[in-house]
Amino acid sequence: MEFIDLNPHGEIGSNCTFIKIGPFNLLIDAGLHPKKLGNDAMPDFNHINGCSIDCILLTHCHLDHLGSLPIITRDHPNVPVITTIPNKLLAPRMLRNSINVMKRQKEEKGIKELPLYVHKDIDHLKRALVTLPYGKSKFLHKDNESIEIKLHRAGHIIGACAIELTHNKKNIVLSGDVLFKPQRTLKGAKLPKGHINTLFLETTRGATKRQIGSSRESELERLIQSIQLIINRGGSCLIPVFALGRMQEILKVLFESMETGKLSKTPVYAKGLGMDVCNYFDKINQRNGLVDFNLKILKKLNVRAPEAKLRLGKNLKKKGIYLVSSGMMVERTPSYHIAASLLAHKVNGICFIGYCDPDTPGGKLIEQKNNETFFFEAFDYLSPILASIDKYDLSGHADRESLIKFAEKSNAKNIILNHGDNEARKWFKDVLRKSMPKTNLIDPDPCKLYSI
Ligand SMILES: [Zn+2]
Ligand SMILES: [Zn+2]
Repeated sequence: MEFIDLNPHGEIGSNCTFIKIGPFNLLIDAGLHPKKLGNDAMPDFNHINGCSIDCILLTHCHLDHLGSLPIITRDHPNVPVITTIPNKLLAPRMLRNSINVMKRQKEEKGIKELPLYVHKDIDHLKRALVTLPYGKSKFLHKDNESIEIKLHRAGHIIGACAIELTHNKKNIVLSGDVLFKPQRTLKGAKLPKGHINTLFLETTRGATKRQIGSSRESELERLIQSIQLIINRGGSCLIPVFALGRMQEILKVLFESMETGKLSKTPVYAKGLGMDVCNYFDKINQRNGLVDFNLKILKKLNVRAPEAKLRLGKNLKKKGIYLVSSGMMVERTPSYHIAASLLAHKVNGICFIGYCDPDTPGGKLIEQKNNETFFFEAFDYLSPILASIDKYDLSGHADRESLIKFAEKSNAKNIILNHGDNEARKWFKDVLRKSMPKTNLIDPDPCKLYSI
């Protein structure tokens, strides 16, 4: 087989892998780099120009895997995109939101090539999407050869799958983004057991040590306790969340904690794309139970929209729990607005529950939490830091130890690292070189063709 990692910047970036197995040309994911803009955020599709793609596979609907898919299906019409049932429903919704974001960026930052695609391209993609349930096989045939495709549950977020390709009795498994442990709304990953010939392995948490004595559940307990403390002292609590997945999980946790009396009944405010995603979760739950979430939770919590008016430095009129995106408190998003209001009051608190890139306002606030002030650049507003600021580890990615265990059990002949920064990949390389010395271990250079 041959492959090219088309993510030009390495690290996590714009995920996209080209694989050639026998006569089959396959493309796995087509994302956009979360920190880059315009053409710079794209995978390098030049390497597959003129190549006839037989099939595209989509692992899940985070934009670093999905964001440039409409461009590929526009340039390669009639190529099927195989994915899970939830992804088929969610992908168009996430991409339409991404068009709106790109249009805003065009105006704010003057990037002329934005938006990279339009609604018509999403309609086109919708027609190309073909679903394949977890664990079922699909065969492609070409030049008297065939390849078997199977999707496996990957945890991580709703609809996420790992991909298994079998050709001439050899299998290739791409882990995609994976979490083995269950979440409140989602079962954990169920990846193929037994020997794997070639394994593409995500390495997101390679630089993060497993915390002894701490688990997802204990982190959730700690979060609920902190929210209760903030409420007890008469403040409001801001939880910046990602719209897809984390918002629904926290809504469910809040609901269950209030039902069982672990958290006193408190108004919950939420809005934006995440609320719309709740509708999709409900639909998917009703259709095939692939997620444990329903709209009754929103009703019982009586979730309302937060006040729309920006009140720099003036405390929020309505006290409660604010569950709004973006998770990294990106400029001008609802979480950024609300932070600019509540940060200057010591009764309040901000609870970060996901990864915040150090370059984002959320990442900067976590780093500067012991400073006296924080600068809200988009509003030219310097706020005192008086609210409490805490971080909880509720990652959607498997810890590095479980991934190593999985790799070792698979006894893979070839392992290809992806989806991780340099430090994270280095840890995997060091550990796997020792524990699997016979394995051909590759940390691929971006856009380079490998034959194995
Ligand atoms: Zn992801
Ligand atoms: Zn990812």
